Amino acid sequence: MALIVQKFGGSSVKDRDRIFNVARIVANTHNAGNDVVVVVSAQGDTTDDLITKAAEITHNPSAREMDMLLAAGEEISIALLAMALNELGCHATSLTGWQAGFRTDRAYTKARITKLETERISSELERNRVVVVAGFQGLNKLDDITDTSAVAIAAALHADRCQIFTDVEGVYTADPRKVRNTRKLDEITFDEMLELASLGAQVLNNRSVELAKKYNVELEVLSSLNPVPGTVVKEVVKDVEGMLIKGVAKDTDVAVITILNVPDEPGTSFKIFGLLAQKNINVDIILQSTGRDGKKDISFTCAESEAETALRVLRESARFDQVTCDETCAKVSIVGAGMQSHSGVASKMFEALSNNNINIKMISTSEIKISCIIDREDADKAVSAIHEMLFE
Ligand code: ADP
Ligand code: MG
Repeated sequence: MALIVQKFGGSSVKDRDRIFNVARIVANTHNAGNDVVVVVSAQGDTTDDLITKAAEITHNPSAREMDMLLAAGEEISIALLAMALNELGCHATSLTGWQAGFRTDRAYTKARITKLETERISSELERNRVVVVAGFQGLNKLDDITDTSAVAIAAALHADRCQIFTDVEGVYTADPRKVRNTRKLDEITFDEMLELASLGAQVLNNRSVELAKKYNVELEVLSSLNPVPGTVVKEVVKDVEGMLIKGVAKDTDVAVITILNVPDEPGTSFKIFGLLAQKNINVDIILQSTGRDGKKDISFTCAESEAETALRVLRESARFDQVTCDETCAKVSIVGAGMQSHSGVASKMFEALSNNNINIKMISTSEIKISCIIDREDADKAVSAIHEMLFE
């Protein structure tokens, strides 16, 4: 007998039929003799609808009340799923995140799980019940932290497996809904998946992969609609196909900020990025020109939503007068541990962009990834072109 944590995203529980579909998967797992904890998000577009409702009332809702509102969406899906399980003869209890023992910091809609008290879940499992837990849904899709809740439960309970069910059959070489001829990966390492998730592959949330790596929780990404083997995410994988590159991802929430003619002297970068850090602005790629006549230029990227604050800080607090912002950028990236030992991968990526007349504004590399900043309107074309160049 094993302990299995199963997570189902909003699309998997969006209506009655889908809820019963999920209930059957859970019941089958339980009937096979396993303990099962299920983590679900709010149904379909519920979270977006609730956000719209809040916007009808105020443009500036308190984070606490937003949290309360979004939690309501999740309570609907846990209760309905528990009912469906009971209907199938599988005894189930639904628990809100709080009842399930999650303790978070007070960041509300951006809450991080700080602790998980497992007594309540464990006692329900001892009574041979399936436990249905509400995940925490962040405000935007990329922030979907229900995945993280599932991994946190799997880690705390020392579960044998954590299955992330979704609407595609696993992790693919690019978004299978947007790119042609993508391939499903049988396995991928935590490090590669962490990069893919951080660089925009929506299929898993990056914090959940981080947590899975930290506690060595093996993840499986699979379809809730089609019962075929998915993608296993773990520390070490056997690379039977010798794939150098595992995937192409894009992030369209990127702004590039450039500060011209700053002093070419010690302390300049500290001044700039110290101020930005104080405002909790996450800076990604940083580029600095060679100094000339005692001056240099510094560019960096951040999320578009944070660009306005960054500009204000630089103009008002740092008193730089030549600050510009290009708000409509995107980052396209390729990821794969194999590129460390193989040259020529970068040039293929650049060739694909060149063939499509796409200009590269910035480049950043690490051992297992290469990212290019480009115009946002070129993002989809770029991903397809790079994917075609590297995988076909
Ligand atoms: P859920 O509601 O189940 O959490 P998400 O929408 O968060 O589902 O994630 C699944 C979606 O991620 C897929 O429908 C797919 O369009 C998208 N996606 C983006 N990149 C990838 C990728 N490399 N592999 C698989 N799916 C991807
Ligand atoms: Mg998701």
